[in-house]
Amino acid sequence: MDSIFTKIVKGEIPSYKVAENETCYAFLDINPLAKGHTLVIPKKQVDYLFDLDEESYVELQLFARKVAKAVGKAIPSIRVAEAVIGLDVPHAHIHLIPINSESDVDFRKERVKLTPEEFVQIAESIRKEFSL
Ligand code: 5GP
Repeated sequence: MDSIFTKIVKGEIPSYKVAENETCYAFLDINPLAKGHTLVIPKKQVDYLFDLDEESYVELQLFARKVAKAVGKAIPSIRVAEAVIGLDVPHAHIHLIPINSESDVDFRKERVKLTPEEFVQIAESIRKEFSL
């Protein structure tokens, strides 16, 4: 069965796309911890990040680094944090979150509410900074 993220990659469910290459896809988290909270996924559906074959894992991390640099340029913050949780969606993904303190990566904290227009504007600003 296709995961919700596979449906996003196939365009069956909409997403605020940030970047993509042949094997990876990045889009804004719909329930963000901070403005610019981005998810980076392999297009291939594998449940658990650490079950990816070595080549796919390295490819994903190299892609995530490029996306993180773009997020960092587009969204003012001290660092862009990388986090792996994976309890919710059974499709490997890396969270990239602009942070100014440790508490900004507390997944229990209240999420930021954004309008569709804000999501569009944030995704566009990150896309502009992204280069393959
Ligand atoms: P995790 O599996 O790492 O615990 O969390 C999954 C993340 O995916 C959550 O932060 C959640 O907000 C995000 N998410 C779940 N469903 C969707 C969706 O349909 N679209 C987008 N853009 N994000 C989603």
